[in-house]
Amino acid sequence: MLVGADASNSKVRKQYLPFIERFDVGVSMVIGRARLTPVLTALLPQNFLDGTPNSIVPKSPDWLFISMWRAPVNIHVEAASAEIDNFIVWAYVAATDSFPDNITDFSAEALCDLVQSRMISWDPNLHTLIKQSDMENISPLHLRSMPHLPPWKSSAVTLLGDAIHNMTPMTGAGANTALRDALLLTQKLASVASGHEELIKAISDYEQQMRAYANEIVGISLRSAQNAVVHFSIPPLKQRHLSIRRKNTSQSYQHRR
Ligand SMILES: Cc1cc2nc3c(=O)[nH]c(=O)nc-3n(C[C@H](O)[C@H](O)[C@H](O)COP(=O)(O)OP(=O)(O)OC[C@H]3O[C@@H](n4cnc5c(N)ncnc54)[C@H](O)[C@@H]3O)c2cc1C
Repeated sequence: MLVGADASNSKVRKQYLPFIERFDVGVSMVIGRARLTPVLTALLPQNFLDGTPNSIVPKSPDWLFISMWRAPVNIHVEAASAEIDNFIVWAYVAATDSFPDNITDFSAEALCDLVQSRMISWDPNLHTLIKQSDMENISPLHLRSMPHLPPWKSSAVTLLGDAIHNMTPMTGAGANTALRDALLLTQKLASVASGHEELIKAISDYEQQMRAYANEIVGISLRSAQNAVVHFSIPPLKQRHLSIRRKNTSQSYQHRR
């Protein structure tokens, strides 16, 4: 059998299930990281420094994720031999059409300037964080998602992970779901190996279960990305009470009718 675990641009998927294509979500992010220096440690609040995932949701229609991460200093060196340090990782998210068209051609410095120019009224310490970022590790990313997965006829070819359910990174669930696939498929194949199950039936069971949980989490991750760039204007308290009263009044009017 063949398992296509070959990432979001999967060649296996393109040949086997060419009708399942990723689509552009209309949301983009600029991702960066800054080494956790004593200066940043003194400036930033404790929950930015202890691994907590933090979402900063301003009044404007954009969003900033911040967390502390232990990572290799040089990402091109194998993890086992790499020097590890603490970094503050950040992802600035906004609607793709609010960014310049050629953002993928921007240098790291230009990306930093762009993010800061969009955070004018934000806390100055956040500007310091962006300014101190590691220029080798800043990049733009246009978010894509898989559509709802329809059933297909199972065979000795199957897929797992991003190859079949690539999702936006906004729920932190892509790798987790890939591992869930790997566990489930391993269990199904073990039952084939022990003679309890026929191969195509086992693959079909795996695909059926995988589609159900993958469709659910891909949908959540898509909504999270879209919601991050929606401008929710929360009306002042007094106005909110008024609109609730009006809604109740119209509902009771409908009941009476
Ligand atoms: C910014 C960002 C943040 C994220 N944060 C999280 C998070 O917090 N939590 C989470 O769960 N997920 C997160 N994800 C998602 C996660 O990275 C992916 O969902 C996960 O890596 C998918 O695993 P995979 O094994 O399917 O694919 P990959 O990790 O992409 O691995 C596929 C492998 O196949 C190899 N390959 C590709 N083509 C071929 C070929 N033709 N022949 C041989 N090998 C090939 C590739 O080199 C690669 O090693 C994030 C993603 C992004 C972009």
